[in-house]
Amino acid sequence: MNNLRIAGVSVDYGKGSRAVTVLHEVSLDFPAGHIIGIVGESGSGKSTLARAVAGLVPVRGGQVTVGETTFGPRRSRKDQRRVQMAFQDPSTSLNPRMTVEQTLLDACAGPRSSNAARIDELLAAVGLEQRHRRSLPADLSGGQRQRVSLARALAAEPDVLICDEVTSALDAPTRFAILSLLAELQADHQFTLVFISHDLGAVRQICDDIVVMYAGQVIEVGTVNDVVADPQHPYTRVLLDSVPSLDRRLEIVPVDFEPVDPRNPPSGCRFNPRCPVGPTARDDRAACLTDDPVAGAESRLHRSACHFSPRSSDLDHPRTTTVPASTNRTASAGPGCGAPPPSMGEQGERHVTSA
Ligand code: SF4
Repeated sequence: MNNLRIAGVSVDYGKGSRAVTVLHEVSLDFPAGHIIGIVGESGSGKSTLARAVAGLVPVRGGQVTVGETTFGPRRSRKDQRRVQMAFQDPSTSLNPRMTVEQTLLDACAGPRSSNAARIDELLAAVGLEQRHRRSLPADLSGGQRQRVSLARALAAEPDVLICDEVTSALDAPTRFAILSLLAELQADHQFTLVFISHDLGAVRQICDDIVVMYAGQVIEVGTVNDVVADPQHPYTRVLLDSVPSLDRRLEIVPVDFEPVDPRNPPSGCRFNPRCPVGPTARDDRAACLTDDPVAGAESRLHRSACHFSPRSSDLDHPRTTTVPASTNRTASAGPGCGAPPPSMGEQGERHVTSA
């Protein structure tokens, strides 16, 4: 069991005078075996953070640590295997000329001859059948390709599995089946699962913790129950208000403003031009234009990056009841999570259109 620690990680795209900082000194710390949902609009930096954790983009500063291992700029093959990633469209990451069996054999450690039984285990773990061994990606549905992608990640026996929008391109029954599968795999294998999604309903369904990102910064962190019940940052409130009901699928929709230009972000609080309770609405909030609230977020409730969120030490008693991680999820999603009846899951997958 290995903790995931992200300490002051920054990422630039481009070099020299053309470099644009898309991730700003992100620090997060999660116990082993948690399921962490990362949400935010397009351009918020959530996928860049995932790629930095997986070692797929170079970091300008900061460190990623899993257990006792702090990864350097060049990860050994063994360290690469410890953090695995699955993507929205598995077609782009699966070799179209390799069968499922070849893909999984490639991903397993050790000699091929000793891995035949391991392939059986992996197929069973992700709900694929023996007949799928000889299938090419093009022969499979979108949901089945996502299962192959997850089996390939499992073959590495990772400490951390990052799923970047893995359910976004799937229809509702298949989405439900894949979410249930992820929850099952995490419970069986006890890896830390980082789940990036536009779908707040899916995050609420399977995650223990939620990280809200905006313009390359973390602006609120807490248990899913705490943040949904009592959001502290105005942006989190806008996100939650932008969806019609917690009983439906909660797609994050861009809220009526241009995204922040990473080449020229607003000074002070990056959310200040959009903030409904910031300087555009109130004369007494000039600090929002000059002081970055991320600097003092550590001491605020839910690490809220807002100057006006309460400090944890100022509260006489907790604002919400923190639910232990193991009871925080609603993995066996019922209709209240907008999920289809379980019986529709596999049946629906046969009708899925390709991602
Ligand atoms: S710091 Fe100011 S602008 Fe930023 S979220 Fe808080 S109130 Fe709004």
